[in-house]
Amino acid sequence: MKLDATQLEMLRAQLERLSKVEGGFYKRKLKGARLGSCDPQGEFEALPFTTKSELRDVYPLGISAVPEREILRIHSSSGTTGTPIIIPYTKKDIDDWAVMFKRCYEMAGITSMDRIHVTPGYGLWTAGIGFQLGAELLGAMVIPMGPGNTEKQIKMMIDLESTVLCATSSFALLLAEEIERRGIRDRIRLKKGVIGSERWGEKTRRRISGQLGIELYDIYGLTEIYGPGIGIACRCDAGMHCFDDYIYMEIIDPKTGKNLPDGEWGELVITTLQKEGAPLIRYRTHDLTRIIPGVCECGCENTRIDTLIGRTDDMIKVKGVNIYPGQVEDVLRDIDGVSSEYRIQINRVSGKDEMTLVFETDPGFEQDAMEHTVRSMFKSRVGLTVIPSAVPLGVLPRSEKKTARVQDNRN
Ligand code: ZN
Repeated sequence: MKLDATQLEMLRAQLERLSKVEGGFYKRKLKGARLGSCDPQGEFEALPFTTKSELRDVYPLGISAVPEREILRIHSSSGTTGTPIIIPYTKKDIDDWAVMFKRCYEMAGITSMDRIHVTPGYGLWTAGIGFQLGAELLGAMVIPMGPGNTEKQIKMMIDLESTVLCATSSFALLLAEEIERRGIRDRIRLKKGVIGSERWGEKTRRRISGQLGIELYDIYGLTEIYGPGIGIACRCDAGMHCFDDYIYMEIIDPKTGKNLPDGEWGELVITTLQKEGAPLIRYRTHDLTRIIPGVCECGCENTRIDTLIGRTDDMIKVKGVNIYPGQVEDVLRDIDGVSSEYRIQINRVSGKDEMTLVFETDPGFEQDAMEHTVRSMFKSRVGLTVIPSAVPLGVLPRSEKKTARVQDNRN
């Protein structure tokens, strides 16, 4: 997807503004880049990426591009290690975020007559308050629960007749199972769920929507770029529509940094077009997805990204092919008789990479046949020949961590 004329204009204005911020992060970094040549797309794609660690290096407020009097609020992304990232917001940033979030609700068919039960956390991170801002702009009734306290969640859900549940997939699943366990489904009025963009399997999705009897919509976002609400799935459930008037998205090969054509999987890179407090140019999200080519059946022409398949940190390269654990899970999930537990072993044999895929099979399935199916499905879907190895259900140790499923013995 190339920058369109409007995006290019916004981007040029933003670069112009950033070049004038005395002591500013981008004044130093971009040294007055303007996109003034006859190939602005090429010039843009040659600009350096912005990384998480750079944002950490300017902690706390070094990323700010406005005078302090214009900053209304900050949010923080909780780094897994060490220094967090602080993002300052101006009035416009907060308003724009609410506008995008309102559009998200509308895309999901949620209206001012809905009662929106918000369970993501409030505080330094962007989740709860983003869900609330958009809902208020929409004119819906917000029930600002925050996370935890299942007892109270369910009581409020029943008494206030919540119609929309906003949650992470794990919390939505927990609530769904508790409601099922208590046999109180008929007292719950939920119709829709807006679920945060962590990677979650089809099986979890089916359980949540089945147990609660609701439609689910994946929502995308990250604190560095406003927060959740910069994109959402539509009723066609064919990827997430993002808002091209606020952000520009690229997909790159995370190893080489080269731009990839639409349709190819890689790392999502986002540039903000209107942000004031902390504009970001070519920010590496580390989220793995692809831009879905073509126009969605729902008629919305906004750029779509696919469901996230993992993080770049999870990526492994075998025989020159980039592989993500999420892809492996997707292939295995689609084969009857294969459980979701697997191990990837990579070895170098006579100078060549070899990947063995160990997977569990359900009782009653012929292991030779399963191995054959896995080999051919993997070849056609991922483009790599693997050595399949079927084992009985329950043989592999259980692990919460994706990385623990990969054993790279090449070094
Ligand atoms: Zn659509």
